Amino acid sequence: MNAEIIAVGTELLLGQILNTNAQFLSVELSNLGINVYFQTVVGDNQQRLKETFHTALKRADIVILTGGLGPTKDDLTKEIVAETLGLSLELHKESLDRIKTFFAAMHREMASNNEKQAYLPKGSIVLINNNGTAPGCIIEKDDKIVVMLPGPPKEMKPMFRESVYPYLRKKTSNIIYSRVLRIFGIGESSLEQKLIDIIDNQNNPTVAPYAQEGEVTLRITAKCENEEAAEKLIVPVENEIRNRLGITVYGVGEESLEEVTAKLLMEKEITLATAESCTGGLLAEKITRIPGISKSFITGVVTYSNASKIQLLGVSIDTLNQYGAVSAQTALEMAKGIRERSNTDIGISVTGIAGPGGGSEEKPVGLVYIGMATRQKCWYSELRLIGNREKIRNITTLNALDMIRRYLLSGQ
Ligand code: AMP
Ligand code: MG
Repeated sequence: MNAEIIAVGTELLLGQILNTNAQFLSVELSNLGINVYFQTVVGDNQQRLKETFHTALKRADIVILTGGLGPTKDDLTKEIVAETLGLSLELHKESLDRIKTFFAAMHREMASNNEKQAYLPKGSIVLINNNGTAPGCIIEKDDKIVVMLPGPPKEMKPMFRESVYPYLRKKTSNIIYSRVLRIFGIGESSLEQKLIDIIDNQNNPTVAPYAQEGEVTLRITAKCENEEAAEKLIVPVENEIRNRLGITVYGVGEESLEEVTAKLLMEKEITLATAESCTGGLLAEKITRIPGISKSFITGVVTYSNASKIQLLGVSIDTLNQYGAVSAQTALEMAKGIRERSNTDIGISVTGIAGPGGGSEEKPVGLVYIGMATRQKCWYSELRLIGNREKIRNITTLNALDMIRRYLLSGQ
């Protein structure tokens, strides 16, 4: 079965709104094993919407429209779909009652044009809107399935999950089920080398790497009759991958590096202080995104100038003169300094050249040192990054988080 998504709304064409509905629906449909061949965007224009719908109906088994179900005159989707399919619009009493209740609950007067939203194509399966006024609907006609959903994502997504997904699930024999492993500290090509036999020889599940800024994700995808069967196929492959990649696998699904690192700090009741130069507080910002981290994160300072490195961290003038602010020696003294002054288990520091200026042959843009100090020892990591200022600052922050994570897991 294949599908086409039509997003309706002039604001989408004007670029005022990003078509996130299409993205959401594409992911959901591919999980259902339904191929999406086309995504179309059309404005609130009768003629062009008619043409777009007509074309979609010719080439797709399932057409999903979002938007244009509102109460105003420019909301035309239902009218045009009904007309094209030769169906009349009928008042759906239950929907009208729901709309009235919705307004009453908000202590607002219902405008008379809201009644329009309760008119639905005759014979359609009505989809209840638990988060707004416009009901959606499913129409089955001449071997085609047409689904209409409201535009606002906070109404569309739950409606899809609650009503459309279970409906389509019954029509498809296989689902696509994936697990995403998140990996840090190995490039896409070395990762591929380590897993080449798995990547090449698997067809269910399939394994595909995907590089993102600073990290790699690995998607393991199974096509099966249900989730349990898919899990059974995925688990042994996942275990083999984890064996080969070891500590570089930091998380699963939507987990972020800061989340994983912060959770480890909290679980192990380890305290942390940060001293940042080129990242200007980004590391502290990422760590403090995680709720509950106040029990582990004690201090974060931005020591941008040499003077502040001396004053606030106790970095020695000699070190700065001899090796420079961007050096392993300075990074180590910064880490030690912040750890001692905050009396934490870990002190971490960042110093580097984020660019675009300030580089030299000896110390090019992208040269970064991350220092780590614990109560027992100090060590550092040297990075040579490529990219613009934003990218260098971001990847440095991720590396610092990863250094903390690795220390918490393996002691180094
Ligand atoms: P409508 O149902 O066409 O009146 O759309 C109502 C609102 O939903 C719009 O103003 C947008 O904020 C949002 N919206 C509509 N279509 C989309 C879409 N394809 N992606 C994301 N948001 C949308
Ligand atoms: Mg609209």
